[in-house]
Amino acid sequence: MVGPMTRRPTCPICSETVKRRGEHFPFCSARCKTIDLGSWLGGDYRLPARPPEDIDPETLEKLLQGGPEA
Ligand SMILES: [Zn+2]
Repeated sequence: MVGPMTRRPTCPICSETVKRRGEHFPFCSARCKTIDLGSWLGGDYRLPARPPEDIDPETLEKLLQGGPEA
């Protein structure tokens, strides 16, 4: 349901629209966050290719300024 012109971040689990400043960003809820974590622990998860425009500008800025402590 995500078109090429879409700029809203969506949950990688259920594709619901996610609030950029949401508590569980980039997930829509704690449930999806847990599902994602469980997938990682299960060893059967491939990191989805995420286009740069899908990253919150502030998050990107933090990553770029993170330095060795990040
Ligand atoms: Zn979700």
